[in-house]
Parts: sequence; C-alpha cells; structure tokens
Amino acid sequence: MRDPRRTAVVTGASRGIGAGIARELAAAGFNVVVNYRTATDRARDVASELREEGVDARPLQADVTDREAVAQMADSVVEDFETVDVLVNNAGITIDKTFREMERQDWDRVVDVNLGGMFNCTKAFYDEITAAEHGRLINISSVVGEQGNYGQANYATTKSGMFGFTRTIALELAGTGSTANCVTPGFTRTPMLEKVPERVQQKILERIPLERFAEVEDVACVVGFLASEEAGYMTGQVIGVNGGMAW
Ligand code: NAP
Repeated sequence: MRDPRRTAVVTGASRGIGAGIARELAAAGFNVVVNYRTATDRARDVASELREEGVDARPLQADVTDREAVAQMADSVVEDFETVDVLVNNAGITIDKTFREMERQDWDRVVDVNLGGMFNCTKAFYDEITAAEHGRLINISSVVGEQGNYGQANYATTKSGMFGFTRTIALELAGTGSTANCVTPGFTRTPMLEKVPERVQQKILERIPLERFAEVEDVACVVGFLASEEAGYMTGQVIGVNGGMAW
C-alpha cells in the first residue's frame, strides 16, 4: 500500500542494498533520506531517481561512526521532514582476514561501523521512531551472522550482535506501537560481493539451494514489507533472505 508523507532514513544508501531499499521505500510513497559516507555523486543520483517517484528525497552525508555528524544529520532531517518513521541501519563494511592475520584495528573498524554506527543512528532517531504512529527500526544483518564465514570473524560477530540489539529494542519499543526487526540477507550482488574472489564466489554459490546470488530487490522488498503499516504485528524477528542456505 502506498504510504504517503512518511519519512525513511536509509544509511549507506549510495549503492548496493541500501540504494535498493531506498528505491523500494520511495516506490511505497516514503520520503527518503539517502545517507552515505563518501560517494556524493552516487547518493545525489539515487536521490534524484527517487524524486521521480513523486516523493521528497535527499542525499545526506554522515559517517555513521561519527556521533556528532549523525546527530547533525538527525537535526537536519527533523527540520526538513518533521517526523522520521523508519530507520534502516544498512551501512556496513567488511575487512576480511583469517583470525590469525586479523589485527585489532581490523576488528575495531568493523565493530565501529557495523555496531557503533547502528548505535549512533538508532540513538539519534530513537525519539522520532518512538513517537511515530507506525515507527519502524530495521537492521540489516547477514546470513554470516547466523552461520559464520571463513575469514570474517569480525564481520560475523557484528552481524550476530545485531540480533540481540534488535530483540532488545523490540521489547523496549513494544509499548509505543513501533517495531524493530532484523533482515539477514544472503550473498547479494553488490560492490561488497565483488570484493570476494571469483573462486570463493563459486564455492559460495554451491551452498545456495536456489543456485543464484540475491539481487538487491530480493532483500529490499522484505524491508519494504517490514516498513509498512501492515507489518505492525511483527517485531523482534530475524528474517532470512538467503536463497535457502541452511545452518
Ligand atoms: P556496499 O555495496 O559496500 O555499500 C555499502 C554502503 O554503506 C555504501 O553506500 C557506503 O557509502 C556505506 N557506508 C560504508 N561505511 C559507512 C559509514 N561509516 N557511514 C555511512 N555510510 C557508510 O554494501 P552492500 O553489499 O550493499 O551491503 C549493505 C549492507 O548489507 C551491509 O550492512 C552488509 O553487511 C549487508 N549485507 C550485504 C551482503 C552482500 O552479499 N552484499 C550480504 C548480507 C548482508 P559510501 O559509498 O558513500 O562510502
């Protein structure tokens, strides 16, 4: 159902899954804030594409690890849009190494972006989500958080950490009518997957019963449903979109 004049903030929306989610929410009638860290031109392009849906959409730069920048982003969004109904914590990074090779800085950086960023953004928009009639917090985790993955001890840890956060915030939001859920995409065709060597991609493909990687639209439509008014009785859930990958 088209959902006019509600506003969604999607972190890391200049490309990949975040841009796909931004498109899905704009098509559903949400005004959309396209957050990004470095890719100004791409974020502008995404926002202007979204405006073709007849909604308001703006690119907003803020490194999610920078609390001050995130707080400023929140102030500016509230000033422009008045309410924030949906926050999608999508921004995430990988720094892949076997644990033997992994340095503390590789661990800290991934934790800082994937978990620290989720903390900062949720903190900054929490009051808005709580006050919204159908507030929605949606965290983008990964199948790797459920299953682990060779060379991704840092990343897998952050993605599992999102489960506990989501389930807890769901309890704390429950009295307000707002929900918190987590989506765990499987391996999805984005620049993040392109960083994985071809030989490893082939091995991953062999483990996917549906015999293909996800497209961003496969993930975005599930986020679109969770953001909708109709999804109001779903909260504290971890929802796999992974082509049937088993534990
Ligand atoms: P991607 O193509 O690498 O895009 C990452 C996005 O995050 C970019 O828009 C980037 O912005 C932004 N970003 C990175 N660090 C940021 C920061 N510190 N502050 C603000 N924005 C930041 O990644 P993706 O594949 O679309 O992944 C999106 C999410 O889905 C991630 O959380 C990832 O863990 C998860 N996921 C991905 C897959 C997959 O196979 N692709 C599978 C499961 C889960 P700039 O370009 O402006 O720097």
